[in-house]
Amino acid sequence: MEDSIVVSEHSVAGPRQFDLDKCVHCGLCLNACPTYRVLGVEMDSPRGRVYQMVQVANGAPVTESYQEHIGLCLACRGCESACPSGVPYGRMVEDARAGLEAIAKRGWFARKVRQFVFGRLLQSRGLLSIAGTMLYLLEFSGLKALGRGVGQLKLLGRLGDLQQLTPSADPPFFFSQIGRTFPAEGERRYRVAFLAGCIANVSFARLNEATVRVLQKNGCEVVIPEGQGCCGALHLHSGMKDEARKLARINIDAVLAGAYDAVITNAAGCGSTLKEYGELLEEQPEYAEKASRFSGMMRDVTEFLGGIELNRKLGRVDAAVTYQDSCHLAHGQKVRKAPRDLLRAIPGLAFREMAGADICCGSAGVYNVVQNEMAMMILDRKMESVNATQAQIVATANPGCMLQLQAGVRLHGKEQRVMHVVEVLDLAYKNYSGA
Ligand code: SF4
Ligand code: SF4
Repeated sequence: MEDSIVVSEHSVAGPRQFDLDKCVHCGLCLNACPTYRVLGVEMDSPRGRVYQMVQVANGAPVTESYQEHIGLCLACRGCESACPSGVPYGRMVEDARAGLEAIAKRGWFARKVRQFVFGRLLQSRGLLSIAGTMLYLLEFSGLKALGRGVGQLKLLGRLGDLQQLTPSADPPFFFSQIGRTFPAEGERRYRVAFLAGCIANVSFARLNEATVRVLQKNGCEVVIPEGQGCCGALHLHSGMKDEARKLARINIDAVLAGAYDAVITNAAGCGSTLKEYGELLEEQPEYAEKASRFSGMMRDVTEFLGGIELNRKLGRVDAAVTYQDSCHLAHGQKVRKAPRDLLRAIPGLAFREMAGADICCGSAGVYNVVQNEMAMMILDRKMESVNATQAQIVATANPGCMLQLQAGVRLHGKEQRVMHVVEVLDLAYKNYSGA
């Protein structure tokens, strides 16, 4: 490994040997890796990262360099799709990060901020509502638009780029809908539970409403189970496995209290983690069976709609659309066809595939905040592909990707509209005239 300051001489927990042994160092994953494509550095490729994990597992000291290369990984799992040997890279990077988290030395302020965000803010409806209201007031005052404008002039450096990524508050917040049941339109074909997320209740309340409407249009009685909360994906990606397990148990109890044909999410990043609750809790006797039952019922909303007979009373949307795969949908859940099929089903909508649609846009949970420079370089390239399609709508399947792409449009785009696939469907249902 490269010479670097040693962080820990002692062995740290990391990926299982069984997983590490799967890599045959063929390099077929390299071109699928966004950080390797930008930097061209082996240590920032999947193969290089696996090599470093093996070294640490074999007793090499943990260095700052190791922390940086593991930290710069988006956990997008593009390498998993490319790998012929079935290397479970997503699980391995989560395990590597959990090991690093256990020995992390942070300053007092950084520790407190982290504790507050992960331990309290994301788990509290009250605190998220307060944060959302403050965000809304900031927007209402015009200060946020001013900040974005200044950021675009590159006067604020990295802070300017972060300004581009701040989510918007979207009152009234969706928290008020939790506990409600929405009837199916027409004959009831399914009874589904909808998990509304955490930040999405504040920043994507209209998307959540559109999701419920589209499900209702497709014969679903939609229950928003009381007691649900943050799925723990951000905790898991940041190495906080125990906290993620606690949140998983809360959601499992909330959902299994009812009887459903499926449990739906519109956030691919959350869906990937929700589908892995079975694995996350497999060593907890009281929850192992319940967690695997829960995960078996989880469906991304596009996956669910793609698997049933779609209500075809869709009006015209006269525009060209391109689709950005959400990594956790394409690579994590292997759902690629359903969102494209749904878009192609809409009359008037011309589908244009972009080059490298399944390469990460740089969003990756909180990555675009903590690794902002790399995230913006990846976004820059992504927008070249988006612009080349000349589509007016950029559709995707994850709120985090929507935020990143909206920033991309502001910085490098051609005034494209960024929409979730279900929002495009919702628009088509609204446009239906009955003719
Ligand atoms: S992760 Fe897979 S594709 Fe990449 S080098 Fe290892 S075996 Fe090859
Ligand atoms: S998860 Fe994504 S960024 Fe990380 S090594 Fe794999 S392809 Fe590269």
